[in-house]
Amino acid sequence: MTINAATRVFAVIGDPVSHSLSPLMHNGWIADHGIDAAYVALPLRSDDPAAALRALGQFGFSGANVTTPYKEAAARAADAADDVVANTLRWEANGALAAFNTDGVGFVAALAEAVPDWRARVRRVLIVGAGGAAIAVGKALSPDVDSVFFINRTQTRADAVAAMLGNGGVLGWQDMERGFGAADLIVQATSLGLAGGPALEWPVALCQEHAIVADIVYRPLETDLLMKARARSLVAIDGLGMLIHQGARAFELWFGIRPNVGKARARLMAVLQR
Ligand code: NAP
Repeated sequence: MTINAATRVFAVIGDPVSHSLSPLMHNGWIADHGIDAAYVALPLRSDDPAAALRALGQFGFSGANVTTPYKEAAARAADAADDVVANTLRWEANGALAAFNTDGVGFVAALAEAVPDWRARVRRVLIVGAGGAAIAVGKALSPDVDSVFFINRTQTRADAVAAMLGNGGVLGWQDMERGFGAADLIVQATSLGLAGGPALEWPVALCQEHAIVADIVYRPLETDLLMKARARSLVAIDGLGMLIHQGARAFELWFGIRPNVGKARARLMAVLQR
């Protein structure tokens, strides 16, 4: 498809975004469906990110994904938002801006793909982290489980997130071993484990034999946590599935088409394994 004056423009916006896999994923799907659209990465440095995001509508943008650190600003910028943290924006025909959070449904879809009977297996969830992604995952899992406990380096943030859920709870950072031992599903939702970043000695040895371990970090795809979980023959789920499924939901919100997640995984794996 040749880019021309009628081409609809979409973007991923954040700081940084140069590492983002979203352009590859969405442009792949745009090509699969012969849609006249283009998806680019826009780094944003702004003291007023909500205003900057709103201004994109005046440039004729059709939609955007928003990543760290602007997900709260994205929800604030919108005329209507389905959550207080948003990762997807859509400009409507009347100029209104709608915001959505597809991270939670993306995580649950990835979990269901890996463990179709997860609802029968998971009663107690432990989420490590209390940032935007942890909130989205916690809210999405909460209705289907007995409890969702959060452990976060900054405990006040965990307190605030747990209070958003009817069945939320909090453990102290020093209670990591107890948390790992009690959970049916452990979700690592901090930036720990990112290539080149700080790491932690995860107490995987204490996990129950039926425990499912998910890491939402996908660079590297096989984090230290997942390696340890696989070494114990636990079900281990990488962060790529969440990335693809949250993107698929965003694509559906923009184009009304459910894209092929298998094709996206093959394209992204080719890049991640390089
Ligand atoms: P965020 O809102 O900035 O939250 C960051 C979280 O990481 C906080 O809980 C923070 O704890 C914790 N953290 C950061 N450095 C830490 C350290 N050295 N030790 C302990 N905890 C630390 O970010 P986010 O949007 O939630 O994203 C979190 C991670 O998930 C990122 O790596 C992101 O790339 C990934 N992610 C993946 C997907 C996917 O589709 N797979 C989607 C969204 C996000 P404090 O509160 O103490 O600072």
